[in-house]
Amino acid sequence: MSRYANRAARLCTHLAGQQLDAFIVTSPTHLRYLTGFTGSNGLGVVTRRDTYFLTDPRYRGQAAKQVRSARRIFTHRPLLEAMEENRCLSYCRRIGFESHVLTYQQYRVLRKAFPRKLFIPTSGVVEKLLLVKDSAELEAMRAAMRITDSVYTEVIGLLRPGMREHDVAAEISYRQRRLGAEGDAFDPIVASGERGSLPHARASEKVIRKGDLVTLDFGCTVAGYHSDLTRTVAIGHATRRAREIHRLVLMAQEAALAAARAGIRASELDAVARRVITDGGYGPAFSHSLGHGLGLHIHERPRVSALSTDTLIAGSVITVEPGIYIAGWGGVRIEDDILLTQTGSTVLTAAPKDLMVL
Ligand code: ZN
Ligand code: ZN
Repeated sequence: MSRYANRAARLCTHLAGQQLDAFIVTSPTHLRYLTGFTGSNGLGVVTRRDTYFLTDPRYRGQAAKQVRSARRIFTHRPLLEAMEENRCLSYCRRIGFESHVLTYQQYRVLRKAFPRKLFIPTSGVVEKLLLVKDSAELEAMRAAMRITDSVYTEVIGLLRPGMREHDVAAEISYRQRRLGAEGDAFDPIVASGERGSLPHARASEKVIRKGDLVTLDFGCTVAGYHSDLTRTVAIGHATRRAREIHRLVLMAQEAALAAARAGIRASELDAVARRVITDGGYGPAFSHSLGHGLGLHIHERPRVSALSTDTLIAGSVITVEPGIYIAGWGGVRIEDDILLTQTGSTVLTAAPKDLMVL
């Protein structure tokens, strides 16, 4: 059975559990996961008997190459309406749809085209399948992480006082592409000096100066799968306070890495890192959650926070990224991506973590 047929079969098992006869996939990311299609206009329908893939004729060649395990339908009509004449939903009564993706207007189209069927809003159905990565997914993620690790090494070789944060971000994007990435995982974060106190600062016009700490947080995608890495470096020299805070963040991160394994509650893992930072006197300055699930989305299940109700399972990939942020001073964050196993975890990112003074 092909990788995609296998995924559709797993989805079917979930559908049976929820008394659904069919499932309409409108998220482009989920469609890629279930069929392999990477174009922008596509629709998937998974029933207990068959998987259908609908798109417009522009994608005939691409779909022939990418979509092997579904019945391909090419139509000039709106895809939701075209399900009717192609009888994709015959014998189906209860049909699930992705309630966070399908628009209200599309819902009305469905109701009009299929007045006798029941459309059931669902959330988290495909997301549940994404929790455990198969070997092809892990291979793509490892490739993305290798690129990101290499680019980190290249970029710290370039960092100089006088560069703008934008210059550094541009080097990151360019170099990741050159090494084989499809694109950036997100706009690279380059936060220097006081801007380091903003956990999600995008790169700006700010010029990097001697004495700044610089937080670099970036990643790329390979075959749709993300890497996500953060390191904080010092330019010229590091103050005693910078060294202390960096050491504390690293201790917290390593404590969490050592505790991560299948079976631990995500909130408990968050607490492991938070305790180290709190004991060091900076508890309130760790102002975000410990990490997040990673894969086809930059943020996906499991949730890795103090409020999460998820228990971690083997085969999930998560980030571990504690940080300390002090307004008017700056910040430090260290982030790695790890694969959870029964007995522990495998750290997938490999960039060096000691405080580098450049
Ligand atoms: Zn990140
Ligand atoms: Zn992250």
